[in-house]
Amino acid sequence: MSVNSQKFNGKPACAEKPVAFPAEMTCPHCGALVEIWNDEYEASCPLCRKTVYREESW
Ligand SMILES: [Zn+2]
Repeated sequence: MSVNSQKFNGKPACAEKPVAFPAEMTCPHCGALVEIWNDEYEASCPLCRKTVYREESW
């Protein structure tokens, strides 16, 4: 079962300027680099598969 399922609505990628950008976090469990997008507050570590939460507040 795939964890990350991305949906595409068929819109051209350049039609709207996306404001989403990944923030790089360090996994507190294994120290791997985890990217958390700015419209999400948690992500799964690609290495240990544990949940990494964003630390910074918006
Ligand atoms: Zn990890």
